[in-house]
Amino acid sequence: MMEVSTIQIKNRDDSLKLAGLIAAQGRLSAGHPMLPVLSAKQSAVEAGIAGEERVAQALRKTSFSFDNHIFHDLSPSSDDRFQMDTNCLTPWYGVVLEVKNISGVLEFKENPPQLISTKEDGHQYGYESPVVQLQRNCEFFTEWLWNHNIQLPIYGAVVLAYPKQIVKTAPTHTKLLFPNLVPPYIKSISQQGKKLDPHTFHWLSAELLKSHQRFIPRPISEAYTIPLGDFQTGVRCMACDRIGMIKLPRTWLCPFCKTTDPLAHQRNLLEWFLVYKRTITNRECREFLHVDDIYTANRILKSMNFPSKGTYRDRVYLMSFSEESLMTIFKGSNQSSKIRRHFRK
Ligand SMILES: [Zn+2]
Repeated sequence: MMEVSTIQIKNRDDSLKLAGLIAAQGRLSAGHPMLPVLSAKQSAVEAGIAGEERVAQALRKTSFSFDNHIFHDLSPSSDDRFQMDTNCLTPWYGVVLEVKNISGVLEFKENPPQLISTKEDGHQYGYESPVVQLQRNCEFFTEWLWNHNIQLPIYGAVVLAYPKQIVKTAPTHTKLLFPNLVPPYIKSISQQGKKLDPHTFHWLSAELLKSHQRFIPRPISEAYTIPLGDFQTGVRCMACDRIGMIKLPRTWLCPFCKTTDPLAHQRNLLEWFLVYKRTITNRECREFLHVDDIYTANRILKSMNFPSKGTYRDRVYLMSFSEESLMTIFKGSNQSSKIRRHFRK
């Protein structure tokens, strides 16, 4: 039989949530009471991403004897609850995976649905049931297919990313897997019934990818009620991480490590939106980037092609980044290497 390797159509996006948490901590003074909170949240987000990465790795190592397309971290609608950690599409069926990295002894309660985790020290924590999240995603996905005039059976499973997660009570009707069990599970599903022809299959994959909408988190100051004045303004240097780059004609100069970076304002404006607020005015831009000249700030804001509202004097620009610009911004950032480090722990 012909072996085809898995085609990972979509990789995980660089997490804006993680970028916001890291940027916010870098702009708070040492000893700020919110630093431990943000740092704990950062660890949780990183562990979640590392868990999803374990599933992606298990799938990358697998050969399948049939066509299949894998999508990581896909949000195919504006409903921000419809976010699939991993999604596999074959010509016969689709598979939705909900990846969890909650440590401790786990009990999947059903009435009411809840996940209880008992930690080593005996403390118990309750979480929204992953079974409910999975069912919701399966329903959303089925509906999305219906809207594209496609009927495919959808299967789902909850994946526990780490073997240290001990299950005391498993859910009755939902499959629980570890990452290495995901490929055999996908292969074990029956390939009977109507099959999508190759043209429709590829069209559907392309539509799914096209519908993806990146998750934009709430600004940290808003999500954690931190006063805007607590954050240090100025342009951060990507090379040495210090704040205080100076505007020169056509570029920025770091006075500490002498690095020049013509795109420093792009990354720093993204930081503004992730840390401060979703909008920015000319005045805020000048104060944040430490640019005195109103026309320079105007030119910078115009060059970003942000949508705006209001007239010249009180114009407000709204956050908007194309996938291309985000890729440029994240290129050379150390987000993925930081997560890999976490993963080795
Ligand atoms: Zn520097």
